[in-house]
Amino acid sequence: MSQPTSTFQPANPESVFTYGAPHLKFGVGAADEIGYDLSQTGAQRVLVVTDPGVAATGSPQRVADQMTTFGIEAHVFDGAHVEPTDESLQHAVDWARENGPWDAIVAVGGGSSIDTAKAVNLMTTNPGELMDYVNKPVGGGRAPANPLHPLVAVPTTTGTGAESTTICVLDVLSLKVKTGISHARLRPTLAVIDPSLTRTQPAGVTAAAGMDILCHALESYTARPYTTYEHKRPEERVPYCGANPIADMWSEKAMSLLASSFRRAVQHGEDDEARAEMAMAATFAGMGFGNAGVHIPHANAYPIAGRVKDFSPKDYPDDHPMIPHGMSVALTAPEAFRFTFDASPERHRRAAQLLDPRAEEPGDAAEFLPGVLIALMRDIDIPGGIGAVGYDEGDIGDLVQGTLKQQRLLATAPKDVTEDDLEGIFRRSIRLW
Ligand SMILES: [Zn+2]
Repeated sequence: MSQPTSTFQPANPESVFTYGAPHLKFGVGAADEIGYDLSQTGAQRVLVVTDPGVAATGSPQRVADQMTTFGIEAHVFDGAHVEPTDESLQHAVDWARENGPWDAIVAVGGGSSIDTAKAVNLMTTNPGELMDYVNKPVGGGRAPANPLHPLVAVPTTTGTGAESTTICVLDVLSLKVKTGISHARLRPTLAVIDPSLTRTQPAGVTAAAGMDILCHALESYTARPYTTYEHKRPEERVPYCGANPIADMWSEKAMSLLASSFRRAVQHGEDDEARAEMAMAATFAGMGFGNAGVHIPHANAYPIAGRVKDFSPKDYPDDHPMIPHGMSVALTAPEAFRFTFDASPERHRRAAQLLDPRAEEPGDAAEFLPGVLIALMRDIDIPGGIGAVGYDEGDIGDLVQGTLKQQRLLATAPKDVTEDDLEGIFRRSIRLW
């Protein structure tokens, strides 16, 4: 498919794109081979990072026990925080530094455990403080000087794609801002996707995590094309290079898998085929957005999740208010894609067709993708806008300011996004239906 026309007109257009991905093991039983795989790297002492909820399922301990049969000493740290904060990451890093050294790290859990493991891996191999490495302008934006340990990522929720990406997302509590640490060295060396580990995932988690998969695919598919940037020097290359032919291929396939399995996986949790397809969709979408990047819905999601008041979603731990990542991404997606439509109408229409091959295109083509998204969100019980998770008109200014801090993401949008544009997107997202 041809690259969309663009309003960006670089003097010296980019001609190079990059593609990176971890080694991958996929399928029922894949998690039983981690001990063998790590023994081949010579690892003798391994840290398993997880959160208390996942630890309670017994999966992390099973992974640790299985490693001992290969002569590996494995320790489980179960203190990862669901939606990591600078404090929770610091706690994990302190524990790992005190109890190290480690030869390798295994993350068993959702994106939160995997991101915590990335931070632990970074800070047990490199000097300095966490904030030194956090993206500018919130942190110092420092690049790791030393190589990291092998990191095996074992996702137990289908969605985040954290197993494929180079980023660790965190809330900086004192600034009320969600930001990240992003560097190619953070990418896991091996992703182990074993659909049998997601069998206990409740419907609410499948729905929110699935919207995250969907937005990863959609945002990278509609991202600003790599050819519309100025040509970079080799030392300037970044992991996220904009929409490109390889990322497009993964995103399209992820959308087709979602079309056939998303509703089924939420409504019939016991449907193993649907679960396996969702796991594959998450992996494929991760391979796409992990190279192309995401834009407006993810930029908006940071303040939506970071400024949560008292919302508690069903099927999540209820010990603290939270808006799950995938839900916070979904809530402004219909309006964001209505806004970006004119940057690449052909891609927006194609995405709507892939996501719902039976949907009829409305008279106004700009409404096609938002319509498909809203129909899906209603069917899988996602809240009907940011109003339903506690925000009103009076919050829009703060939300917009929070999004404007995500310049790295906004720079991947297929057209320029002004403060006024964001205000309109948030305002129209208070009530989607
Ligand atoms: Zn995401």
